[in-house]
Amino acid sequence: MISIRRSRWIGIGWLGCALMLGILLFLPPSFRTRAQGGGGVRLALLTDPGAPNPFGPYLAEILRAEGWVAYDVVSPSSLSPTLLQMYPVLLVAEIPLNTTQAGILRDYVWNGGRLIAMRPSPELRAAMGWNTGGTLSEAYVRFEPGHPLVQGLVTESLQFHGVGDLYVADEVEVIAWFYQDRDTNSGFAAIGRVTRGNGWAVFWGYDLARSVALTRQGNPDWVGQDREPDGILRTTDVFSGWIDLERIAIPQADEQMRLLSRLIREGLAAAAPMPQLWYFPNGVLSLLILTADAHGNPQSYYEGELASIESFNARVTFFLTLNFDSCPSAPAPDSVNAWRAAGHTVGIHPYVGTDEWGNDFRDFRTSTMRTRDRFLRCYGPPLSPTIRTHQIRMGTGWVGNARVHAEFGFPLNLDYYMRGDVTARPDGTQAHGYLTGSGLPMRFVDLNGEILPVYQQLTNIVDEQYMAQPFYPDWRRDADQVIAMMDAGLNAYYSAFVANFHVDYYN
Ligand SMILES: [Zn+2]
Repeated sequence: MISIRRSRWIGIGWLGCALMLGILLFLPPSFRTRAQGGGGVRLALLTDPGAPNPFGPYLAEILRAEGWVAYDVVSPSSLSPTLLQMYPVLLVAEIPLNTTQAGILRDYVWNGGRLIAMRPSPELRAAMGWNTGGTLSEAYVRFEPGHPLVQGLVTESLQFHGVGDLYVADEVEVIAWFYQDRDTNSGFAAIGRVTRGNGWAVFWGYDLARSVALTRQGNPDWVGQDREPDGILRTTDVFSGWIDLERIAIPQADEQMRLLSRLIREGLAAAAPMPQLWYFPNGVLSLLILTADAHGNPQSYYEGELASIESFNARVTFFLTLNFDSCPSAPAPDSVNAWRAAGHTVGIHPYVGTDEWGNDFRDFRTSTMRTRDRFLRCYGPPLSPTIRTHQIRMGTGWVGNARVHAEFGFPLNLDYYMRGDVTARPDGTQAHGYLTGSGLPMRFVDLNGEILPVYQQLTNIVDEQYMAQPFYPDWRRDADQVIAMMDAGLNAYYSAFVANFHVDYYN
C-alpha cells in the first residue's frame, strides 16, 4: 500500500493501515464514557431506533467516519432542558416529535444551543417557524456557492436519495438548494439556518443518513435484478441507473458528510473546541491500496507482479481463488510466508455459483466458507481480513455479502467495484470516480437500521480499464482520468483508492 501526502509517497503495510483505520474509526465505548465522565463530550445525537425511518442510528456511523468519535446518543423520552444543557451541539435524526419535545428543542436553541435536524417533523418545523412548500424525491442538492461554510467543497449539484421537504427560503440563511434535476434550481432551500435567541438551528431537508446509505449501497428495491444484463447478479447491478455518470467523478456522499462536519465544527467552536480525527493514518491526504486478484496463476506471474510493485517500495494484497479441493501448485506455501514476512498480505477471492464451464461452486456462503477453510489448510494463518468475491457476485439481499463476511471474520469488503456497463457512458467510454459516492470506509447498514461489523470500501482503479481490448481501446485516456481522480484526492476529495491489478496479466 502506498500513502500519499502531497508529493511524498510512503509505503506501509496494508494490515497496519487497516488496524490504524480500525483504531481511528472504532474507538470503544469506554472512551466515550470516560469523555462523558470528564465533561468532554459536547455533541449529542437524538435518535429513536423505533422511528418509522430506521436510518437514524446510521448518523452515528457518519459521525465516526467524519472523525467525531466522542458523542452521546439520547432518546426522545429522555429529553429535558437539563440534559440538553450538557451539549452545545445537538444532531437530530428524522424522528417523530410531539409538541412538548419540539418545545424543549426550541428553548434549547433560544438558550444558545446549536441544533441540526434531519428532515424535521411538522412539530419541530412549527416550533422553529420553518415553512415548506411540497416535496421532491430522488433529485439533487447544490451547496450555495456564496455561503462561507461551503468554501472548498464541491460546487456542482449532487444527487440525494429519499424524499426532501422543500423549504421556503425567505428569512433563512440558505446553505444548499434543492435542484429538480442536475441543472434546475427549485427555488427552495434544502439546507438552511436560522438564528433564534442565543443559538441557531439548521434544517436538513432530506435525511442525510438514508441518502448516504442508499448512495453507498445502491437501490435496495433492485436487489436480485440483473439490471446490467449478463446473466450474473453483481454488486454493480443495484447501481445501474442509480448513479448519475455526470456526477460519478465526485464523492457525492462524502462531500455532503463534510458539510455536516463543518456545521458541527462551527457549532462546537462557540463553546469549546473538540477533537475531530483525520480520515487516514499519519495525516496523509489520501491512500492508494494495491490488491491483486489471482485465478490459479503460475508462480512466475506472482513473482513478476511483486517485482513491479516492490520497485515502487509498495506492498500488495493477493486474493486467491482456491476453488478446488486440493491445494494449488502455486503460489507455494514457502513463497506466501516470505511475502508475508516482507509486508504483503494474502487473502481469498471465492468463486460463487456456476461458471461458464459448468463448475458449481455452490452458494455465496458455502463458497466463502470453503475457500477460507482451504486457504487455512493450504497456507495457514494469517489470512487477510479483507476479501473480494470473484466476478463481484452479489449474495442474498442488500447486505448479503457483508453478512457472510461478518460470519467468517472479514471486516473489510472490496466487492463494490468499477467495471462493465454500469460505468460505461452511451458512447462506450468508461466513467471513472466513485460508483458508491464515497472514497471512505464505512460499515454496512441494513434496511432495518442494523449496522454490520463489516466495512465497505470501493475498488475504483481497475486494470482492465487500461488494457488494449475492445471495451477499453484508449487506455491512455483512461489512465489520465484516474490520475486526475487521484490528484483530486490530494486536493479535496480525500479518499482511500483501492486498485486491482490482476495477477493474470503478469505473464
Ligand atoms: Zn476474479
